[in-house]
Amino acid sequence: MSEHAFQICINPKCRKTYGISEIHHACPACGELLDVGYDWDKLPVPKKLSDFEQYWPNRNIPQRFSGVWRFHHLLPFVPIEDCVTIGEGQTILQNAPFMAEYVGLKRGKLHLQYEGMNPSGSFKDNGMAGAFTHGKLVGASRAACASTGNTSASLALYAAVTRLMKAVIFIGSGKIAYGKLSQALDYGAKTIQIIGDFDDAMSRVQEVSKKLRIYLVNSVNPFRLEGQKTIMFRVLEQLRWNIPDWIVVPGGNLGNSSSFGKAFLELKQLGLLEKIPRLAVINAEGADTLYRLVEKEGLRWNGGEYDKTLIEKFYADMDTEGRRADTIASAIEINRPVNLSKCLRAIDACRGVVREVSEQEILDAKAQVGQGGLGCEPASAASLAGTKKLITEGVITPDERVVCVLTGHQLKDPNATVAYHRMDESLYDKYLRVRGVTETPFANEPITVPNQLEVILDALK
Ligand SMILES: *Cc1c(COP(=O)(O)O)cnc(C)c1O
Ligand SMILES: [Zn+2]
Repeated sequence: MSEHAFQICINPKCRKTYGISEIHHACPACGELLDVGYDWDKLPVPKKLSDFEQYWPNRNIPQRFSGVWRFHHLLPFVPIEDCVTIGEGQTILQNAPFMAEYVGLKRGKLHLQYEGMNPSGSFKDNGMAGAFTHGKLVGASRAACASTGNTSASLALYAAVTRLMKAVIFIGSGKIAYGKLSQALDYGAKTIQIIGDFDDAMSRVQEVSKKLRIYLVNSVNPFRLEGQKTIMFRVLEQLRWNIPDWIVVPGGNLGNSSSFGKAFLELKQLGLLEKIPRLAVINAEGADTLYRLVEKEGLRWNGGEYDKTLIEKFYADMDTEGRRADTIASAIEINRPVNLSKCLRAIDACRGVVREVSEQEILDAKAQVGQGGLGCEPASAASLAGTKKLITEGVITPDERVVCVLTGHQLKDPNATVAYHRMDESLYDKYLRVRGVTETPFANEPITVPNQLEVILDALK
């Protein structure tokens, strides 16, 4: 364990600190979220970001191969040899000229950070490497999460490969995409399906893990967010340390946006970054808590003294009106984002904006990613749809450099894809038509033909 790392409450009026080997999901003193903090002046930190390149040749050391731990200097809560890795973070930043045209950017200005290349197919592995490293440090024997799918796939995989902890996953009923569920089952995780939605599963898993002392790996776990900071380090690395103008990311529980904000704040504090990119967090219209609170109600970080009454009232109204999140982008189908306060801090630090996009916009963007990018699941495409919207509004200008984070792999949710391409009208009705998707302009419809050579040849003319 590093004697120069600690946990610290993000509430500026509290700022209580706790040891690295303690397990908390919130500050015991005031209930706010915790950060992992460091005594940077006592730690060896590179003088410039390009110093990290000296570790590139050491790919035979598992931690240096890891896209998370090769930035160990920037998340040094345990010595590097104790860090858990299964080869996460070997992701690429794809320059996507065809997509650039679609969203309205100049050619060469749009980059897609493809996190689908992670071992379990989503960015969650960056965080799981951090959480497992901490779980190992505290000697946990079981780990749990509530999940819309990808956290459980990631937890199940890390548990299966490392055997450090046994996996217990809580899912809601009905909504989980089969690609993700099949991973958790295949990797052998104990799976509890609750009759309820993600938010129900989330509050239950917090109770259960407290009662049974099971290590919680949801993004309330500050060590998970440390791992996710490295997504931004890799973006900078692949831009040869040039700073993009915008980072655009889908917002669900807001772990990613929070960790990106922390990453940039720390780089700035360490003198490794001159300017902080702007952040755009994209909600689905059917799950738009952050959008409403920030853009409609004016909720701000306000130096840590954000308006809690406003949030409570918002949630109370949500309950009385019976509003429940619903979107084809199941990974961001969340009513009460657990990292809301940290995300407000990130928005403040990165001059952030929040937008919401429709199901139609998400699926059209997803089809475009399939045709000119590496493909993605619906939630990921919200970042492209959001970029398109922000360019139409003039908030992002066509010659700015934009990085969209593609959070999850194309194969995670085949139903959504097949439905869009009109493979099967009943799938289209079930997943898309009910959600107001009336057109499929980029559908690549299969052509059905009788088993006759002449007709087949005709079809290929
Ligand atoms: C978890 C997840 C999200 C949401 O990320 P948050 O950090 O919870 O905001 C978005 N897309 C995919 C594919 C995910 O798995
Ligand atoms: Zn506190």
